[in-house]
Amino acid sequence: MGGQYIEPMQDEPSARQPDFAHAWRRGGWPRLCELCRAWSTQSLCLDCLARLAPELPRCVRCALPLGGAGLRCGDCLREPPPFVRCVTLGDYGFPWDDLITAFKFRDRVDLAGPLAQALAARLPAADSPPASLVLPVPLSAARLAERGHNQAWELARRVAATLRLQADPRTLLRLRDTAHQVGLGREQRAANLRHAYWVDPARASRLHGRHVALVDDVLTTGATAGAAAQALLQAGAVSVQVWVLARTPRPQD
Ligand SMILES: [Zn+2]
Ligand SMILES: [Zn+2]
Repeated sequence: MGGQYIEPMQDEPSARQPDFAHAWRRGGWPRLCELCRAWSTQSLCLDCLARLAPELPRCVRCALPLGGAGLRCGDCLREPPPFVRCVTLGDYGFPWDDLITAFKFRDRVDLAGPLAQALAARLPAADSPPASLVLPVPLSAARLAERGHNQAWELARRVAATLRLQADPRTLLRLRDTAHQVGLGREQRAANLRHAYWVDPARASRLHGRHVALVDDVLTTGATAGAAAQALLQAGAVSVQVWVLARTPRPQD
């Protein structure tokens, strides 16, 4: 019950305050859960994460919601993406849209810890190839300078630490930003992204023979993750899987 704050006895000097010493020993200052405003040791309480990330049947390949477990959606049957799995916490909508916006654009890096923990907890049930290297979907140098941090790396390194896996932000690189993708068809989007991702030749050897997990905040159409996965496979990765916080339910094709 991570969210409950129990009133201390009134004769204690620390009455009317959360138990800071206890929270500190447990790994953090008490704070208000971003969603339910209960006291918690992290920015999202365990109760909210359990309630808001129910496991639903999804396409094993791209995580689109489906009627039954262990199936593939029509798109993935017709044309499988370069990644073998997509694991997600939920559909892109409440509360993931607000959380991701805060995390990405309002410097709420404190949300990375609980989100990464929830994502790591989702993985054992996903029946994925055992990944040994965790990489973030990279930002271009210009975008990174503008934003100050890559939210995908903030997630990736924490998920990797939880699972005791290696993580690396410099193997996969983004060469340039692409033109706005909204309104483009599937083919055009893929063409736009074809040369956007690149593996640093000095670090390519660490991909050889390895199952790689690619981490991002949202999977929308799969075009970005697909282009990044292709670059990793060409450089020698055995398989690529994608771990994201949220999946857009119906990609605009
Ligand atoms: Zn909560
Ligand atoms: Zn699919």
